[in-house]
Amino acid sequence: MSTVHHYKSNLRDVFFNLFEFLDVGRRVLGKAPFATLDEETARETLKQFERMCSQDLAQAFAASDRDPPKLGPDGQALLPESLKRAMEAYYEGGWHLFEIPTHLGGVGAPPSVVWASFEMVAGSCPAAAFYLFGSFMSRVIDRLGTPSQRARYLPQMIEKRWGAAMVLTEPDAGSDVGAGRTRARHVEGDVWELEGTKRFITNGDYDTVENVVHLVLARPEGAAVGTKGLSLFIVPKYWVNEDGSLGERNGWRCTKLEKKMGLRASVTCEIVYGGDAPARGLLMGEAHDGIRQMFHVIEQARMAVGMKSLSTLSTAYLNAREYAKERVQGPDLTRAAEKDSPRVPIIAHADVRRMLMLQKSHAEGMRALALWVASLQDEIEQQGGHGHSKGLDRLNDLLLPLIKGFNSERAFELLSVSLQCYGGAGYVEDFPAEQYLRDQKIDSLYEGTTHIQALDLFFRKVAKDGGATLGKLFEQVQLTIESGEGGTALTSERALLAAALDDLQAIYMTMLGKASESVHHVGLQGNRILMATAETVLAWLLVRHAAIALVKRDGASDDDRAYYDGKVASARFFCREVLPNVTYARGHIERSAMDIMDLPVEAF
Ligand SMILES: Cc1cc2nc3c(=O)[nH]c(=O)nc-3n(C[C@H](O)[C@H](O)[C@H](O)COP(=O)(O)OP(=O)(O)OC[C@H]3O[C@@H](n4cnc5c(N)ncnc54)[C@H](O)[C@@H]3O)c2cc1C
Repeated sequence: MSTVHHYKSNLRDVFFNLFEFLDVGRRVLGKAPFATLDEETARETLKQFERMCSQDLAQAFAASDRDPPKLGPDGQALLPESLKRAMEAYYEGGWHLFEIPTHLGGVGAPPSVVWASFEMVAGSCPAAAFYLFGSFMSRVIDRLGTPSQRARYLPQMIEKRWGAAMVLTEPDAGSDVGAGRTRARHVEGDVWELEGTKRFITNGDYDTVENVVHLVLARPEGAAVGTKGLSLFIVPKYWVNEDGSLGERNGWRCTKLEKKMGLRASVTCEIVYGGDAPARGLLMGEAHDGIRQMFHVIEQARMAVGMKSLSTLSTAYLNAREYAKERVQGPDLTRAAEKDSPRVPIIAHADVRRMLMLQKSHAEGMRALALWVASLQDEIEQQGGHGHSKGLDRLNDLLLPLIKGFNSERAFELLSVSLQCYGGAGYVEDFPAEQYLRDQKIDSLYEGTTHIQALDLFFRKVAKDGGATLGKLFEQVQLTIESGEGGTALTSERALLAAALDDLQAIYMTMLGKASESVHHVGLQGNRILMATAETVLAWLLVRHAAIALVKRDGASDDDRAYYDGKVASARFFCREVLPNVTYARGHIERSAMDIMDLPVEAF
């Protein structure tokens, strides 16, 4: 096996989600504002996209890890040839136009199809994924910028494929974004000068693009402390004149590249603004509204990170499955006592099957959740965008911390299981398993650690909302249980789902009571609540998938029948083996105690 061709997509499952479960072909494609794509074109485009990812992007996966970018003399990262080739193939194919709306000259594909394509980018070469962030950032400027900022930036960002970076973190301001000290001084009009040091900035500067546009959070002189005092600025590497022409080099520099555990080809920069020369930027839009504006970027990035985790788990599973079919080791357990019993491929061993099914059911469940949320985003766009459909917005917002927090946390555990399937071979570089694990670990850390997602879920998305959106989600799960979706074949799965839903409701009720005693209970149990919520939602979606698969398997081709049987098996396994975690979580949460908070620090 070669890591050059490491990437294994699961387009069959992507198509199942989009067209057999979510019915995107009928509900979304060909209809405003997504009139440019019909189902057939979307399927064909995703197939072509898959070929580009498997060949052009995947070749850079291991190569750019072994030969990572280096810091050049003028502070820009010098990218390795493999990564340059990957990005060139992406841009030459015009793939960056896929998500760009038609009024900016793009294809205007709906979020569900765009996220499905992103899964393949992130799975084939995760380091490349965020170099391609320019298209998304141009959409942010389109949404939030003034007409003059849009005219100045958008045509070039899109046509000339400028790079972009989101810039929040500082040495003393990580999870606590509001502690940021980077200052902004007003010059004239919408022009400001920034001064400060940011760290851990993904793809802050590199050599394959003419310009890199930073969206930077900074605090205007005299503004309030905390997140409320932050404003958002467009701070390019080369100044962009009002007529769109390029001006002088702006006063920021990348002063350091971090040496990392994984994702080595994605450069992580320290950036100094206003060191030797002023770093000029434009105040985004017309109001000082930085953190709310940055949340447009953060939400997209959180979804992207959740997709990255699921795509890594999915390709890891498919690689491990291939290895398990080929590697012959040991006899079947039932014939272990016989001296001359035949040796079997390791996929015959129950424990290997258990490890494979854990990965398969989770990867499918995570994809089901992510693409369902993406299809909610389709609907939001169809109803005029964020703010026009409050119910859908709130459901989308409730589910985002699950995609980011659960996918990233659980995928890491399961990538370890995936590596285990290979035995010692998983630990060496001949197979991609070890790099998958290293490259994915960052997902539970950046864009808000898992616990930051858990706090967001409990306080902002549930408690502040009075539990209304969560309650509506529970009603949908209840409907599947009561309507007998999937018939008698799924009776026990629905019973397990009903028990989990009951436990999950009890978890939230218990925690609301305990939180009034001490909010530290939410701190202690928050991650557990997030995981239990996600496990219940995944199980619900997998049961619904299985209900469709049970109907479609009869009369299907051999390949399709195997696929549908696999879907039913995923649902059964997940409900039986994973859902009981929710019951355990309930017990832990009911017993939640404050003693470790009372413990003096010296006792740790
Ligand atoms: C490779 C990489 C790429 C990155 N890319 C970018 C980028 O492009 N742009 C950008 O702006 N940033 C970026 N970051 C920064 C990233 O978003 C932060 O590292 C992350 O938000 C965590 O902040 P921190 O590292 O300061 O950890 P800390 O905030 O110091 O957290 C340390 C631990 O304390 C916990 N903790 C912190 N605060 C609380 C709290 N209030 N309650 C309970 N627990 C808490 C955390 O959960 C964590 O376990 C990147 C980081 C890395 C490593």
